[in-house]
Amino acid sequence: MVMAPSSILLHSEDTIIENYDRINSGIDSNYGAGKPFVSSNGELAKIMIKKVLHEQIARIDTDTCDPDEENAFYVADLGEVYRQHIRWKSNLPRVKPFYAVKCNPDTEVLRLLSKLGTGFDCASKAEIDMVLGLGVDPSRIIYAQPCKTKSYLRHAAQAGVARMTFDNADELYKIKNSFPDAEIVLRILTDDSASLCRLSTKFGADLETAADLLRLAKQLNLNVTGVSFHVGSGAADPSAFAKAVKDARWVFDQADALDYKLSLLDVGGGFTDDTFEIFASRLNEALEEYFPPHIQVIAEPGRYYTANAFTLATNIIARRDVSSGPGTPTSTASTTSNASTPSTTTEKSYMLYLNDVPQVLYSSQARDLNKLIEYSIWGPTCDGIDVISESCYLPGTLDIGDWLYFENMGAYTKCSATRFNGFTDKHETMYVSSEAGASALLGY
Ligand SMILES: *Cc1c(COP(=O)(O)O)cnc(C)c1O
Repeated sequence: MVMAPSSILLHSEDTIIENYDRINSGIDSNYGAGKPFVSSNGELAKIMIKKVLHEQIARIDTDTCDPDEENAFYVADLGEVYRQHIRWKSNLPRVKPFYAVKCNPDTEVLRLLSKLGTGFDCASKAEIDMVLGLGVDPSRIIYAQPCKTKSYLRHAAQAGVARMTFDNADELYKIKNSFPDAEIVLRILTDDSASLCRLSTKFGADLETAADLLRLAKQLNLNVTGVSFHVGSGAADPSAFAKAVKDARWVFDQADALDYKLSLLDVGGGFTDDTFEIFASRLNEALEEYFPPHIQVIAEPGRYYTANAFTLATNIIARRDVSSGPGTPTSTASTTSNASTPSTTTEKSYMLYLNDVPQVLYSSQARDLNKLIEYSIWGPTCDGIDVISESCYLPGTLDIGDWLYFENMGAYTKCSATRFNGFTDKHETMYVSSEAGASALLGY
């Protein structure tokens, strides 16, 4: 059923170890008949993921394993990506998603989405090539980087990736030189102050500039085809979409006055799992109010598609006791910026070192479940800022060799791992599918 650990760890970076039916039969035997195979709240998915996590951890003995066998690894549930796609289609039927590759360029994710028929938002040569390599037609790509490397622009021209964004005059001259027939999309800025990761401080033209850019594009005889925006990654204010759509309408009207017939509105990314329905309904209302049905509407969701699909497991590679009080060493923790102070609910307090740099601690393998212990959690590098959680409480005393896992690690994690200090940024991924539809498309 599963490959030997050595072959998973040493010969294959990405290993498909389970398929839907096998998982189901495993769950049947473990959890009894009568349980639904697929539940809408992803309960089955969680069981499947836990099972694979436990199986993999059981293969690794940190007292005897080879270097790097205890490295952090992911379990990816492609069924989750599939469910998000169906949810997108039913809530935003008018908006075609162009998945933002940068969010998680995992090849199985890209392969599934290509089969589901989405488009792709690429921002570099490598991302463009990765998507084209899957056999995706260049017309399904938007080169959504308003500040493009010149050689990449020539590469896009050669590859036939014609649709691209711009937000400044210099970019128009660059496009005029390297790809005068490109189908260019004017990116405007938005009020993204409520988002998790602001983008409009770096990208997007204000409305006044947008009008100037349209005139310049006209002078240069360039093919302006639409307007785009991004309300910020992890957007929190649903009215940001309404405002941005209205601003985009204004730009459409300015373009109209210059005899441009714009046909594309790109509403960018920013969608999150928790607030998706609210955002979708606000967006639909705004689209209905400002954009007649003949205008094609696309979006560039990243986080929405992958955040929940990946779980990360990390091994505790070191531990430092920083408890204060009689008989316990105070240790060098006092020299760090955030030596944790034990609260009254704990007897001991530890610093743990992991061999990865995840962000949010969610749960753990623990021994003494009745006692909450305070931990600060640190990455493996020698950098003092390499801290994952300055303070968190976990049940029981964790030791070297124990594992933690972090849910919802699919967005902006895999792709932003560091190689600092010689630690790897290549983490093995094991794939499962909790949806029969996804399994069928992927051939699992
Ligand atoms: C990062 C990015 C996205 C994806 O944003 P999410 O918040 O992950 O949906 C989409 N479009 C552009 C231009 C981006 O830079």
